Order: sequence, then structure tokens, then C-alpha cells
Amino acid sequence: MKKNMKHINTILIANRGEIASRIIRTCKKMGITSVAIYADADQTAPFVKQADVAIHIGDSEPIQSYLDQQKIIAIAKEIGADAIHPGYGFLSENASFAKRCDDEGIIFIGPKSSAIESMGSKARAKEIIQSSGVPIVPGYNGSDQSNANLKTEANKIGFPVLLKATAGGGGKGMRIVFKEKDIEFAITSAKREAKSAFGNDELLVEKYIESGRHIEFQIFGDQHGNVIHLLERECSIQRRYQKVIEESPSPIMTEHLRGTMGSAAVAAAKALEYDNAGTVEFIYDEKTGEFYFLEVNTRLQVEHPVTEEITGLDLVQMQIESAQGIPLQLNQDEVKADGYAIEARLYAEDAANNFAPVTGTVHTFEFPRVEGIRVESAIESGSKISVHYDPMIAKIIAKGPDRHTAQAKLKYFFQHLICQGTTTNLSFLQRLLEVEDFKNGIYNTHFIEEKIDLSTIDNITKNQRYEAAIATTIYDWSLREKNRKVLRAIPSGWRNNFYEYQTEKYVIDNEKTEIKYRYVGDSFSFFVEDKEFKVIILETDLTHIRISIDGIQKKYTISKADKNCFIHSSFLGNVKVIQEDRFPKKEKEKVNGGYESPIPSQVVKVHIAPGDKVKEGDPLIVISSMKMENVLVANENGVVEDVYVEEGHNVEAGFLLVKVNEQ
Ligand code: ADP
Repeated sequence: MKKNMKHINTILIANRGEIASRIIRTCKKMGITSVAIYADADQTAPFVKQADVAIHIGDSEPIQSYLDQQKIIAIAKEIGADAIHPGYGFLSENASFAKRCDDEGIIFIGPKSSAIESMGSKARAKEIIQSSGVPIVPGYNGSDQSNANLKTEANKIGFPVLLKATAGGGGKGMRIVFKEKDIEFAITSAKREAKSAFGNDELLVEKYIESGRHIEFQIFGDQHGNVIHLLERECSIQRRYQKVIEESPSPIMTEHLRGTMGSAAVAAAKALEYDNAGTVEFIYDEKTGEFYFLEVNTRLQVEHPVTEEITGLDLVQMQIESAQGIPLQLNQDEVKADGYAIEARLYAEDAANNFAPVTGTVHTFEFPRVEGIRVESAIESGSKISVHYDPMIAKIIAKGPDRHTAQAKLKYFFQHLICQGTTTNLSFLQRLLEVEDFKNGIYNTHFIEEKIDLSTIDNITKNQRYEAAIATTIYDWSLREKNRKVLRAIPSGWRNNFYEYQTEKYVIDNEKTEIKYRYVGDSFSFFVEDKEFKVIILETDLTHIRISIDGIQKKYTISKADKNCFIHSSFLGNVKVIQEDRFPKKEKEKVNGGYESPIPSQVVKVHIAPGDKVKEGDPLIVISSMKMENVLVANENGVVEDVYVEEGHNVEAGFLLVKVNEQ
């Protein structure tokens, strides 16, 4: 057992984004000096400005910066940091880094390296945890990794099975296999994805729990052998096996179940002689009421604020105290839940395109202050979402005396959140909060695919489209007005021809929208698709307008980039208005039977060659983006006419990969 009992004066934060900001906040509260390190892309990031000292570490590529162990340790020594907080991701679960810190006399704020190491492999974790009497998912976690053996084991377990990368995380390398005939292909592609993401292609095979709920327990240990749990978090609302909504308490939790699962979590932690913060994840089978151990995350979780909100504890402070050798300040009986907390993760991603990550600049990021809403944000207005890092923009945590109030606050917050410039999952989150089953806590890990129609997520109503077109026109008009140097006395709508309407053309929500307007003394007359509106300007500045449309007054927040106008008001949401070119480019022609890359990606496997016959559902090409694989399958039976890429090619979004002629 490590016994530091050493006071921490300065912490280097080996991380970035919202979690770096979160750690800095607790450092300030505890009178500890915070040192941020930052890569090129983060030069002006909020966390860099918040830290007491910020030191440039290198290139934007993580390997040159937030993953560069040697540089991080050198900086810590030079600045005299006595501890390193790794946050989550990056080096947080790297046992050799934790060990290296120890060897250098720097406190690693996390559990001891042996616990990190043994939990680093899902296969070994299952072995150890099973021996402590905690139920594990039935499956194979042995060393014979031949395809034939994995197939035999899958048959023994019975379909459906789940393949997982033993070194995995973030849902990478996972495949559900429903039928024996698909196992061979799934093993090959899961191994390949695991190899590219983790440098290790070992898999484990598990029984797939079809109506599973992800319920995890926050555990906490000190260096004196005390371990407690800080209640559960339910994280079943997931896409691509990754969480988007987390809440505590779990809607299905009973005192009895909490007692059993909590004891299992503590038993698992004790088996590891666990110190510091950790999370024991379980999958709960709705059909049988059984629960099984999934894995231990040996770090602070993204969703830790949910636990903080209902317990009133500061987990980062507890981590720092535990790392100093201070015993836990509370026992199990003293841990009590007060109210409900729900966290939603705001991502720069395109829900309608299989939640593909997107990059870009967030021109405006503003949100209302709502009592009981906590925002953990990585960005501010003007921040860029870079291709190098996770595209999470912020976490919003709502706390209420009951689940309904927490949901209502979250909904209210989202209505007023202004996030302009890049595609986000905001309307997806808003839609999710409206689903009756979610409101009632009835969900499992399939909720998103089963209950939400992603293709209509960003749709707006006709009236909202008209409203966006009118507000954009008024905004532009008032800008022109302000900039007009000549003919000051005549409003610009009048200049060409007094009697004629001006015309503007937009594309909003993929719909062409043409509007006509003219200035009529104290107001504007608008025609949008033959519907007439009377519009009065009340206030304007460079980023806002307040107008009345047929007597309804609203304030709009607007930012512009090139031909794109981003506009927000409550009840309208964040809408992008594209101003049409006067001479529009010819639309790219779609090729019949053509298969395009949906996102920028690398071709990892080409399954077909010109002349091959393919059946509907056959895999054609496997592409990989951000180390996640996507399989393009044939939409119909046919013959491959041509293949335009080879394995290893990098392609842009929309690149034509294969052409198949229907048969
Ligand atoms: P990762 O480390 O990649 O996050 P996990 O083992 O934590 O992988 O699993 C991620 C998610 O995958 C879980 O939250 C759950 O939704 C799903 N999952 C994992 N194992 C199973 C299983 N055996 N049956 C059903 N779903 C599972």
C-alpha cells in the first residue's frame, strides 16, 4: 500500500478541455497552484486561461502533447509540480505512466498502478473480479485467439454474442453478432479495428444481453484500506456504445438492488485494494433482473458531476485528498442521495449521419443561468472544434428535487442555449427529452435506435423556416443600413425602385425559401411563399435583433460566416440559413448505384472487385474514421461495375467509392 502523506502544493493537469477546467476549479478552492499544459490547437482555450500557469507542450497531435509522457514529466519537474492529475482519457489509465510518476517522486492522482494495470485488460479484469464473487457476463476471455476457437466459443455461449477488444474502450472494436454465419467477418473486422485503435487485436466473446441497462457505481478508496461506493449512475442512453445521458439515481433502482450491486462494486474494489476514484460498471438484464460486471474504469468518469450533485461531494477534492494519503472523510452510512441529477453531453456531431463527429468554429456559445443547472464547458464563443480531440462541447447537469423537475430544467436550458456555427447534437437531445418513455425512465441501451427517428432530428416547421428567413433578412438589412455611407436619408430597401419588392433566396433545413419584402414607412411587408407578415424592427446591434413579426416580439442572436447565417431564438432553436449564390453552382450529380463515403475516412478493406456479383446486405467496403469502422453494404443485388479506391486510400466525404449495377 502506498502511503504518501505528502502535502500537494502544485498540480500539473495532463489533460485539456472541460475536465482540465473542472480540476482547476477544485485546485483554486483548495489553495493549490494549477499548471495547465496545452497543445498548439488549445493556445486560446478556456482551461489555459483559467490555470495559474499554462505551458506549451507541443503539436496538436496528442502523441506530441497530451500523451507525451516524457515531456509531461519534464515540465512537472521543471515547474516543481508535486502531483499530476490525468483527468479522463489520454494517460489516465496508463499504468506505466502512473508508475513512472511514482518513480520520479511525483504523485499520480489516481489509483496505484497495479490496479490500473490489472483493469487495463477486460479479459484479466473479468478474471480478477470473478474471483471476488462478483457475477460476470458469461463468455470467453481466454488466450486462444484463433478465429476457429472464438467461433467455437461463440457457439457455446449461444447467439447473440458481443465481441469486444480486451484492450478496448469507447466502444471501439465492439460487434454484436446475431447469427453464426456472420461471426467470421465480425471477428476479422473487430480484430482489425482493435489493432488500429489499441495496437492489440485480442478479443473477448460475451453473451449479448439484449435488454440491458448500463448501471455503474462510483467507488472511492483511500490508502488505508477503506472503500465505499457513492451510489449509482445509470448510463443506458448510448449511441455507438457511448454514453450521451447519465443520471442518478437510476429510475429502476430499489434499496434492495442498490444494496446488492453496491456491495458487489465494493467487493470488486477491495479485490484490487483500490485507492482513489473509480467506477465499477455493470450491465443489468431487464428480463431476468440479474446484473453482471462489465469493467472497472480506474479514473474520474466524464459523468462524475451527476454523483457530485446528488451527494454534495467534490470528487476531485476527494481524489486529491486520497492521493495525499488522507483517509476517507465519510463512511458508507453517511452517503445519502439528495434529489435527482441528469447530465446531457453536448457534442459537435451529426445525429442524422450516424452521430459522425464534426469540426468547425462555434461563433457564439451563450447560455442562460438557471438555478440547479451546472455547465461544464470546454469552449467559449469563437472556439474551434478540432479534428484532433473528442468533439464534446459541454456537459449540462440539471439537478432537481425529483426527476421530472431535473428534466424540465434541462429542457428549458436547451431551449435557450445558443450554440452557433457548427452542427451539434442539441436538437437530438431536445427530441430525446420529449420521448414519453424517457420521461418515465423506461429505457435500455437500445433506446436511441428504437425510439428516435434520427432522419428528422433537425427538421423545423414551415413557420419556423419563415421566421428564420425573415429574421435573417432584417439582420442583413440593418447591417447594410449601418454600413451605408451614401444616400443616408433613403432606407436601403427603397434605393432601387420605390414600389418594387426586394427578393432574397435562402436554403433553410434543406428547403429553398424565397422571400420578398419592402419597407413601408414604419414597418416591413414580407411575403414568404405567398404568406404575408408585418415586421417591425425594435432594436438591432451587431449580434442581435429584436423584432416583432405580426405582433410577436422576439430577440434573435445572429452570427454570420460567409454565406451562412446562424440564428437563434427560443422556440426557434439554432437554425442555419444559407444565402443562395446569385449564380448557383450546378448540383453535384448523384451516380445511380454509386456508394459514397459518408464522412472523411480511410479505406481499410475492399471486399469486392469489378465484375463481382453482390447480394443485398453484402459488405462492399470498410472505411474507418477516427478509428471507428463503418461497413458499406450493398443496398440491392447487382454486379460491381467499378471500384474507385484501394485499401489505404484517404477519401473526402462524398467521394464515390464503388458503382454497382442493379440486377
Ligand atoms: P467500453 O470500454 O468500450 O466502453 P464496455 O464494456 O464498457 O466497453 O461496454 C460499453 C457498452 O456496451 C455498455 O455500456 C453496454 O451498453 C454495451 N455492452 C457491453 N457489454 C455488453 C453485453 N455483454 N451485453 C449487452 N450490452 C453490452
